[in-house]
Amino acid sequence: MRMNATGRVLHDPKGGSFRFDAGAVCLDFAHTGGEGQYAIFESLHEPADLAEWLAQGPPAAVMTVTVTAHELTAAKALRQAIWDAAHARAAGRPLPAGAVATINRAAAAAPLIPELTADGTTAGWAPPVRATQALSTLAREMIELLSGPLAQRIRECAGDNCPLVFVDTSRPGARRWCAMERCGNRQKLRALRARQAMDP
Ligand SMILES: [Zn+2]
Repeated sequence: MRMNATGRVLHDPKGGSFRFDAGAVCLDFAHTGGEGQYAIFESLHEPADLAEWLAQGPPAAVMTVTVTAHELTAAKALRQAIWDAAHARAAGRPLPAGAVATINRAAAAAPLIPELTADGTTAGWAPPVRATQALSTLAREMIELLSGPLAQRIRECAGDNCPLVFVDTSRPGARRWCAMERCGNRQKLRALRARQAMDP
């Protein structure tokens, strides 16, 4: 079952929020928080937060088995690996071996199992639905992304000091910004001011 990324609302700890569509669910997941300087963006504080993220939007996986602390730890390791691999690919660097190993390990678990409803018109995930399966599905999506036709479309936002990373799924392939309402408009404003400063 193909998951179409629809994006998520990201909250800035300093205030404000904006909608960001990373173009792939695994990349959306990579923006749920992080380590080091990105720890202030953490949104997965406890296992229930992971369950909530997985249930909202794609993969739309409502857990039927309670998420464990161990799964939350695994989720954060996978998130970091996806983040590291995406940035390496965007920069044209070789992928870090540790990130590749972590993604492969997560993908080795059984993924979410699609299940057709009785009337045959919609699909969901067959129970039991566990976080480990959802993580496998995200890891498999990342593997497809890195090895598929959109592999060269993984980019970091062109905004100053904006580390958000996305895959450009648009037909022209000219996406530059994480979100127009954030970095795109900032850049336009800066260009306008620079022009005004030059015109006396
Ligand atoms: Zn940006």
